[in-house]
Amino acid sequence: MDKFLCGIDLGGTKINTVIITNKGEMVSSYTLPTLAHEGPEKVIQRMKETVYKVLEDAKLDVSDLEGIGVASPGPLDAKKGIVLNPPNLPGWIDITLAKILEDEFKIPVKLQNDANCAALAEYYFGAGNRTKNFVYITISTGIGGGAIIDGKLYDGANSNAAEFGHASINFDGEKCQCGSYGCFEMYASGTALANFAAKEIEKGRESVIKDIAKDGKITAKDVFEAYKMGDNLAKELIEREAFYLGVGIANIIMNYNPEVIALGGGVANGFDILYPIMIKTVEERCYKASFEGCKIVKAKLGQNSGAIGAAVLNIVFSKN
Ligand SMILES: [Zn+2]
Repeated sequence: MDKFLCGIDLGGTKINTVIITNKGEMVSSYTLPTLAHEGPEKVIQRMKETVYKVLEDAKLDVSDLEGIGVASPGPLDAKKGIVLNPPNLPGWIDITLAKILEDEFKIPVKLQNDANCAALAEYYFGAGNRTKNFVYITISTGIGGGAIIDGKLYDGANSNAAEFGHASINFDGEKCQCGSYGCFEMYASGTALANFAAKEIEKGRESVIKDIAKDGKITAKDVFEAYKMGDNLAKELIEREAFYLGVGIANIIMNYNPEVIALGGGVANGFDILYPIMIKTVEERCYKASFEGCKIVKAKLGQNSGAIGAAVLNIVFSKN
């Protein structure tokens, strides 16, 4: 009988762990808060705890698993299984995570960038539907993604490929924390949308956004909420968001010539609202053939995509 696959999505706020079959069916899942401020040792302890819990819930033994995959924030070294120094995991410096978990569970452990894992999950079991040339873009706090080229995850020389959010779309723009200027995510991420809203309101623009925002802190979700209420400022901001997304996606299409692009992350919840202006902008800025050969769709797997993709690493890289 085929073995089961275990995936851990190590996020800045939560650890989400799943066991799936090799057809992508969910067997069990469990989530714990990361409590990242407590440092790597305690976080890793909680990661182990989630694995024992999903095994117990699924009535399985470690020996029933093909292996464990971990989706981690970057930067990391996937080949060596080392988490380098992610900004949202304080105290993590060159942590040999794969080895630490292998020592605990005595089965192979693979590590990969979280957005790449989500891309793999969508490719295998979600919106990608195993189309050979597939791109996944996540639009939330930042913008990230992953690219499947000719049926294989392309992760580059050191697992940093497909950092779509840091393609510059304005060379005169503000400096980004990555070192470049006017990066895609500075215009089109959920954070950017919320910041643009806050700036307009500071200038005195009337809008229900500030009434919706809890504790005065505006989020992208608040802007979409206001849009649905017919708010004028929200309409302007969302239209601009859709335009920026179109510009960024056009670049991605010209780079990768994919058959399918799936959009995930919080902002993609507004997919239907964003679509008309986004698609028009993409069409204006791409080769006709590339545009016509590419479907832009909403991602399917939601919150579990990172963990499912991590589990899939056991199949994808099992021969390495
Ligand atoms: Zn950047």
